[in-house]
Amino acid sequence: MADKRDYYEILGVSRDASQDEIKKAYRKLAVKLHPDKNPGDATAEERFKELGEAYEALSDADKRAAYDRYGHAAFSGGMGGGRSGGGGGGFHDPMDIFSQVFGGAFGGGFEEFFGGGGGSSRRKSSGKQRGSDLRYDLEISLEEAANGVEKELEIERYVPCDTCSSKGTKGSGGVKVCQTCGGRGVVARQAGIFIQQSTCPECRGAGETISDPCSSCKGEGRVQRDSRIKLRIPAGVDTGTRLRSSGNGDAGVRGGEAGDLYVFLHVRDHDIFERDGDDLFCEVPLPFSIAALGGELKVPTLDGQSSIKIPVGTQGGTVFRLRGKGIAALSGGGRKGDLNVRVQVEVPTKLNSSQQEKLRTFSESIGEQNSPMQESFFQKAKRFFDR
Ligand SMILES: [Zn+2]
Ligand SMILES: [Zn+2]
Repeated sequence: MADKRDYYEILGVSRDASQDEIKKAYRKLAVKLHPDKNPGDATAEERFKELGEAYEALSDADKRAAYDRYGHAAFSGGMGGGRSGGGGGGFHDPMDIFSQVFGGAFGGGFEEFFGGGGGSSRRKSSGKQRGSDLRYDLEISLEEAANGVEKELEIERYVPCDTCSSKGTKGSGGVKVCQTCGGRGVVARQAGIFIQQSTCPECRGAGETISDPCSSCKGEGRVQRDSRIKLRIPAGVDTGTRLRSSGNGDAGVRGGEAGDLYVFLHVRDHDIFERDGDDLFCEVPLPFSIAALGGELKVPTLDGQSSIKIPVGTQGGTVFRLRGKGIAALSGGGRKGDLNVRVQVEVPTKLNSSQQEKLRTFSESIGEQNSPMQESFFQKAKRFFDR
């Protein structure tokens, strides 16, 4: 304990290093000093232990604060909330810390880490391999997006092989541990200070070879097939919504866990409605007589129709809001968006002579008064007309 090295020095970081820097420094050194890399080297083993201890102290905010204040004394006595049961310093097994930092997913330990790919982390010694996740792009209508819908998807994917019950062999005893990789599924090769690892060429990562492969699946324990999958699409989805259908991806190799199916939704453009989040917009023509006199106007909604009261003297471009006639919020809670109806005043194009005559009489009678928009416009545009 007397000549314990400074934790920061061990990790090779400054005293104000961030947690990220500390973790990075630890990762780098741990790989270098790992006992698997230095078999029989007692110094390396000692330094690996020391490194784990330094990392455990500095990666925990409370312990780091105590260390900054009291140095190694912070952990030597009964001070601090250290783990119980541990020896001198209260630190636990350095291999434990190693696997924490490199993630439990690497399971097998050191070699697996060098294997890299996500596939290897999911491999089990039995030769099982998780199936791939699949993507499916699905187009739906705006009505379906608004109300929710159940769809049946047809997907070509791997399904478990019935012939061999996913085992991959014809009879029993056909599975042997791969001689090339010793069942690990990977082969390692020393390259400088690093160990380079690649998928075993003999068993292609399964860790096993099969002497009598099932004739239906060629030993994979799964076959490719068109399959139908029911998918419930909730109300409120939009383009870009991604749904996960758990376990409906590819079946795993030889009984391995199935992957997931991810469905990416695309909502088709609608003839009448435009969507903005949970709100809908549409434009509805308004006869100019109703605009002037007021009245009722029928408007479309996603699930039928509704009507709005048009006040006397409604101008074109006025927007009427129909509360709750939009789209249900995907987050639920019964909230619904609104439908915004913008009216477009329509000018009749085919007037007969008697109708034209009446309009002329009307126009003369009204003169230039009673045109609020025109009035306000000329007010603003005065300087253009007064020169
Ligand atoms: Zn089979
Ligand atoms: Zn192999």
